[in-house]
Amino acid sequence: MNKNVFIIGSGFSSLSASCYLAKVGYNVTVIEKNSSLGGRARQFKKDGFTFDMGPSWYWMPDVFDRFFEDFNKSRSDFYELEKLNPAYKVFFGKNDSISIEDSLDKIKEIFEKEEKGSSVQLQKFMDEAKNNYDIAVKDMLYKMPGISPLELITKKTIFKVKSFISNIRREVRKGFKSHRLKAILEFPVLFLGAKASNTPAFYSFMNYADFGLGTWQPKNGFFDVVSSMVKLGESLGVKFLINSNVDSIEVTNNEVDAIVINGIKHDCSLIISGADYAHTESLLDQKYRQYSDKYWSKKTWAPSSLLFYVGFNKKVPNVAHHNLFFDTDFEKHAQDIYDHPKWTKDPLFYANFTSITNPNTAPKDCENGFFLIPIATNLEDNEDIRNKYFDIIIERLEKLTGEKLKKHIIFKKSFCVNDFEKEYNSYGGNAYGLANTLMQTAFLRPKLRSRKVKNLYFSGQLTVPGPGVPPAIVSGKLVADLIIKNEKNI
Ligand SMILES: Cc1cc2nc3c(=O)[nH]c(=O)nc-3n(C[C@H](O)[C@H](O)[C@H](O)COP(=O)(O)OP(=O)(O)OC[C@H]3O[C@@H](n4cnc5c(N)ncnc54)[C@H](O)[C@@H]3O)c2cc1C
Repeated sequence: MNKNVFIIGSGFSSLSASCYLAKVGYNVTVIEKNSSLGGRARQFKKDGFTFDMGPSWYWMPDVFDRFFEDFNKSRSDFYELEKLNPAYKVFFGKNDSISIEDSLDKIKEIFEKEEKGSSVQLQKFMDEAKNNYDIAVKDMLYKMPGISPLELITKKTIFKVKSFISNIRREVRKGFKSHRLKAILEFPVLFLGAKASNTPAFYSFMNYADFGLGTWQPKNGFFDVVSSMVKLGESLGVKFLINSNVDSIEVTNNEVDAIVINGIKHDCSLIISGADYAHTESLLDQKYRQYSDKYWSKKTWAPSSLLFYVGFNKKVPNVAHHNLFFDTDFEKHAQDIYDHPKWTKDPLFYANFTSITNPNTAPKDCENGFFLIPIATNLEDNEDIRNKYFDIIIERLEKLTGEKLKKHIIFKKSFCVNDFEKEYNSYGGNAYGLANTLMQTAFLRPKLRSRKVKNLYFSGQLTVPGPGVPPAIVSGKLVADLIIKNEKNI
């Protein structure tokens, strides 16, 4: 009996699926085109500086813990976690910022100072958010392979119909007047890739992830999670190949029978692709593709990003580990991402300085800065544009921190649309896949199993449940469960 499973890509969904399948006895090989593992969560090191190239916010620690527990392990067997305090700092202007602390009680005090009566509103909002989290993450997430609309209907969701019709923006605006508080409460759904006005109110569970569960940091950075999952996979027998590009998938009679890697053909009995969905389908003959170019072009894509990895030869004062720079018009920037895609004039941006909490990520007395400007997919990308935006954000950072920084930069590396396309085969250079709008939720997302090729499966941020590291880990479990159920005869 041949049980050779090839998994394309080494993002979190692939790593997760590889462990679950290896655990039940499949021979699993993970094939990654790049020279290191982790997909969008790769690590980059230069001159004593260490950067996580993609994800940096460790939210929903219960999902990570549950993954390791499924293998009779504990997360703490692999890496240490620290709860950040402040969780993050939000800048609204010079000498105008709010630090979000590490417990709901402390956050309520901050809210009350900003707007009288808002702590009571916040408690109400968070009670609902927690209830949604319990339903979404504890009840539904692991039971929704996106096959049928009935997956969404449970005894608990029946009472939540209104929260699928209403949206986050409307719910936030019912309770809060301060533009600062509204921006803070609308920020978590940016992780889902759409505007708050286009995200069902049910997704307020992200606010519970933020204020209720808190922001955590693996001791050596997010890459700790990648290394740990690889280590677990290896202990279960998973093989990992790097510098290995999948050139095509060969199908006979609607079944995959071979995969071509770096020009060499390998027999296989099943493929999962954790690479971007449209790219994977381009590896098949036209007749075996389920979704047309038109289908992909009509989707609401989560943003792309302009990223900078920067080494400073001094410490950056007045910033926290995670920082949101909301000192420009949030609304205008969101319109330029989603409604009329173009380079925005005054971008909001995000920056982290992990060397503040872990000095090992930068040389002594230096700081590593990761900067992210969310942008629409498919935008024109060239060096001049990148440099122009770098100058904009560094000047803003100098103004907001009151410190000269530009002359202290000892190196900078940028990453944008062209790199997302080239390095990850990402559609339109998307950073986070498909947004979680109402029309792109659950069974309305691209399917985990191909309708046209029997033994071809998909995982990752374009499938269920959606964008983000915790959903990618869950997606790996969902696809593995589906395979174990469907492919008993392999
Ligand atoms: C800049 C950035 C910041 C983010 N921040 C956060 C955050 O703070 N918190 C959070 O939870 N999430 C965050 N995310 C989202 C999160 O990183 C992703 O949702 C998740 O990592 C996606 O995992 P995935 O399994 O879909 O695979 P991916 O990470 O997309 O990996 C797919 C892999 O497939 C490989 N591949 C593609 N084509 C081929 C081929 N032909 N042959 C071989 N290999 C191939 C690619 O090289 C890639 O390694 C961020 C993402 C980005 C880009």
